[in-house]
Amino acid sequence: SRIPRIVILGAGYGGIVTAIRLQKHLNYNEADVTLVNKHDYHYITTHLHMPAAGTDNPENSRVNISRLIDEFKVDFVKSTVMQIKPIEKKIILEDSTLSYDYLVVGLGGEPETFGIPGLQEHAMNIRSINSVRLIREHIEYQFAKYKGEPDRLDYLTFIVGGAGFTGIEFVGELADRIPNLCKKYDVDQKLVKIFSIEAAPNAMPGFDPELVEYATNVLTNKGVVFKLGTAIKECTAAGVELATGEFVKTTTVIWTGGIRGNHMLDQAGFATMRGRVKVDSFLRTTEYENVYVVGDCSIVMNPEGKPYPPSGQIATQQGETCAYNLIAAIRNTPPKEFKYINKGTVASLGKREAVGMVGTRKVKGNKAALLKKLVDMRYLYIIGGIPLVIRKGRF
Ligand code: FAD
Repeated sequence: SRIPRIVILGAGYGGIVTAIRLQKHLNYNEADVTLVNKHDYHYITTHLHMPAAGTDNPENSRVNISRLIDEFKVDFVKSTVMQIKPIEKKIILEDSTLSYDYLVVGLGGEPETFGIPGLQEHAMNIRSINSVRLIREHIEYQFAKYKGEPDRLDYLTFIVGGAGFTGIEFVGELADRIPNLCKKYDVDQKLVKIFSIEAAPNAMPGFDPELVEYATNVLTNKGVVFKLGTAIKECTAAGVELATGEFVKTTTVIWTGGIRGNHMLDQAGFATMRGRVKVDSFLRTTEYENVYVVGDCSIVMNPEGKPYPPSGQIATQQGETCAYNLIAAIRNTPPKEFKYINKGTVASLGKREAVGMVGTRKVKGNKAALLKKLVDMRYLYIIGGIPLVIRKGRF
């Protein structure tokens, strides 16, 4: 009979781990595996706050897919996915069409703007190498422009919308970068403002309150001004209007307030919540048992029936189970239920500062920062072994 065809969409955390596991465990000629991704590189999304703020080179946050994939075992197609057609079992790419027997969707998330007017048009997002290069260049350009227009303090005002993990990690890096930028452009540091604006009453909603307090104190000492319990009402080219009525003039808004699943999942007719597909215990869609969804595009419920927050950690673990279940489906052996094991959560607060929870243990300060490095290196090890840890690890 014909060799089954597996197509994986997206080479992010979920997709790349699925592909790597398949290439390791599938026997010769057991399946045809095709991996599709927009770029010919994988990006280490969990590092992106650093190149976005300019504290690290964007090159350190990406790896060529050819270094991760064995081209004799997995076909890599560099293309943009335009449409998923689950009834026809076809994928429309920008330049061709693929058909599949089994599909894995790992296209990642998209910014959730909650319908706030102007965010789509005027805010930037930390989500890819291209987007962080833009943020980094934009920030430097504001400093350069300010020198010619010294009454324009809005050039030196930076607004980060959303104080979740991504927003917090980014303001920590940005606060670290400001002294260097002030020196480079001869700008008085007292004129620079960083606002972290969050609609919820606290930063890092849902995280341990003692660690949240520690984190906000560290960042406040670095010069970050928090506006908590304050929703952004509108974003314009001139600045942001807050729910309090206050208008903050700025030419830089970075939105980290939330993510939703890729819009193509809605379009394909899957039942979604905020664009994300609630998968069954084997990571399949409820509509099609040959379609698997991993990473930010999927929702997995915890034992209490609440969705786990999207993370690189869960995406990686899903990739492992997804590959196992694809092989089981092909071999007609029993699949494995997906069980998320939380190995701990650490948020960086810039240089030598972080907060984290490992099981019920709280860690903070330099110790947590070291832990963060270990977690990052562990991921590099999973996808690329020791050589990748040495090349891309941030020691
Ligand atoms: P992604 O990693 O988002 O990858 C999706 C892939 O699909 C990309 O390669 C993209 O190019 C490709 N793609 C998208 N659209 C198309 C298309 N139309 N056609 C072809 N290809 C396409 N999580 C943690 O667990 N710990 C952390 O410390 C952490 N820190 C973070 C810090 C920052 C600054 C950010 C932004 C996120 C952080 N996260 C962290 C979250 C984590 O990065 C994501 O949850 C994770 O990347 C999701 O993986 P994914 O497989 O769903 O997709």
